[in-house]
Amino acid sequence: MDLGISGRHAIVCAASKGLGRGCAEALAEAGCDLVINARTAGPLEETAAALRDRFGVQVTAIAVDITTSAGQAEVLAACPAPDILVTNAGGPPPGIWSDWDRDDFIAALDANMLTPIALMKACLPGMIERGWGRVVNITSQSVKAPIPALGLSNAARTGLTGYVAGTARQVAPFGVIINNLLPGIHDTDRAAALDGRVSQDRNVSVEEARAEREATIPARRYGTPEEFGATCAFLCSRHAGYIVAQNVLIDGGGVNTTL
Ligand code: NAP
Repeated sequence: MDLGISGRHAIVCAASKGLGRGCAEALAEAGCDLVINARTAGPLEETAAALRDRFGVQVTAIAVDITTSAGQAEVLAACPAPDILVTNAGGPPPGIWSDWDRDDFIAALDANMLTPIALMKACLPGMIERGWGRVVNITSQSVKAPIPALGLSNAARTGLTGYVAGTARQVAPFGVIINNLLPGIHDTDRAAALDGRVSQDRNVSVEEARAEREATIPARRYGTPEEFGATCAFLCSRHAGYIVAQNVLIDGGGVNTTL
């Protein structure tokens, strides 16, 4: 399928690895020129070079912390007229409800709620003026079904989801489409770190921890960044203009709900 976005300009945040990289690859394959971001320059430059070589698109790499105002400004300056924005950042640390104090919540809200909101506020006016835009926010299955150990994520991402629900309907009349993508468990460094933590806490091997989690997923495996990226690229495509304010779960059936 021709996604109809060749030559579009896209910002993909937190994209040197994992799900963000999966989205950047799929958008590059669709012919988009990219500004990609992560904090660590080495892996980010490697990803940028790999995308340029493989897909022949322009890729600018900006090594900054996207959760800071200065970092956001640098990324936005590198792409003055974005058609597509994919927001993403690292997830908050796990724990239990009694671990977290005000500063932990402020950090989680900054990273996983206020950063995507700031980026949308910066990009939406230009998209509205040009009459076309796509925003995909990478959130989590924890928006639909809370993950008890990820209370900071549950809280921050649900706040973002509420903001998007209203905002997406305010910008849709101008051809600007915002949706959220909700990953279940995917095969990335983040998933490996969570498996490592379970392995330590429960004194089982990392392989056993992973096998136990895979057994809880109807698809019986972790998702891949490539599958995730393909869905993101579709939501950024010209075919997605009537999909507004949705929370698209990609979880192998892991969240057990009817709707
Ligand atoms: P990952 O494999 O650890 O990759 C994270 C990427 O984001 C890296 O490129 C990292 O590079 C970059 N990054 C992290 N913090 C950043 C920051 N403050 N500013 C700029 N770049 C940053 O993680 P992932 O699995 O792809 O997860 C992506 C998001 O999806 C996270 O919020 C995670 O909580 C959420 N999620 C993941 C899963 C899953 O199973 N994988 C499930 C549900 C939700 P640097 O470290 O160099 O900055």
